[in-house]
Amino acid sequence: MDLEQKAIERVKTASQMSFALYGSPLVVTDSGGKDSAVCREIVRRSGIPYEVQHNLTTADAPQTIYYVRETFRKLEEQGVPCKVNYPVYKGGRVTMWSLIPMKKFPPTRLQRYCCQVLKEATCRDRFITTGVRWAESVKRKNSRGVYENFTANPEKKIILNNDNDDDRRLFESCALKGKRICNPIVDWTDHDVWDYIRSERLPLNPLYEMGFYRVGCIGCPMAGKTRWKEFALFPTYRHAYTKAFGRMLDVIHESGGRTKWRTAEDVFAWWMEDFQVEGQMSLMDFEEWRTGNEE
Ligand code: SF4
Repeated sequence: MDLEQKAIERVKTASQMSFALYGSPLVVTDSGGKDSAVCREIVRRSGIPYEVQHNLTTADAPQTIYYVRETFRKLEEQGVPCKVNYPVYKGGRVTMWSLIPMKKFPPTRLQRYCCQVLKEATCRDRFITTGVRWAESVKRKNSRGVYENFTANPEKKIILNNDNDDDRRLFESCALKGKRICNPIVDWTDHDVWDYIRSERLPLNPLYEMGFYRVGCIGCPMAGKTRWKEFALFPTYRHAYTKAFGRMLDVIHESGGRTKWRTAEDVFAWWMEDFQVEGQMSLMDFEEWRTGNEE
């Protein structure tokens, strides 16, 4: 079976499970990136009923927002229900910039609280598809599957790494609800994805034409040094992070906390791993401080 057909079979199975477990159609989650574009097309070609949802991170580039808006407009014209989810934390609407002072530390590779709040808190009790692929990282290779449930408790996590019927029946018969996930292109390589996009002429987020390899929040700590390029192209976002770090320091000082950072620029330099700041915190200092201050 070719890759496309295999992915189509996976979403058809997920659709059946979605109706059986939740009584509602599969939700295609769309981040605005290339893997989401492929998943959308796979689901469209499968002929199942589906919905599409986008989680507004508030830190995405304007190009992503316009691209998602245009994609949703076209889908809605074809009768596909589309929804943009606005992030909520502690009962109120938040943005990346209001969340940082609330959390009292910047998002880091190890502390990706922003993903939990801005991207993962939606679609409870629904069956969703994502564009997660093993080729993206070793961690994903070890922790993600074709079908899985979404849970913070590793003991309750069920991961199916193949399309074996016996394993799938176990997954289907598990009474645990919550969110379930199908990753139809989990075994596709980067080459497979680009090949499919070109051969099927899928419209893409214009950020790829601007030289971006991955599309996500501007300044995402997972992007490493690429962030310098992102902030050079989108200086308003650098300003927004610095302002948020300034408000974060105010909140810490007002609540009697102490840090080795003197200014918002110090925090920004530390966050960008620019080890030039006099008196900056080491990660260990930071973790010790954070552990004592996190809510
Ligand atoms: S900045 Fe990165 S880690 Fe945070 S929500 Fe965005 S993608 Fe997730």
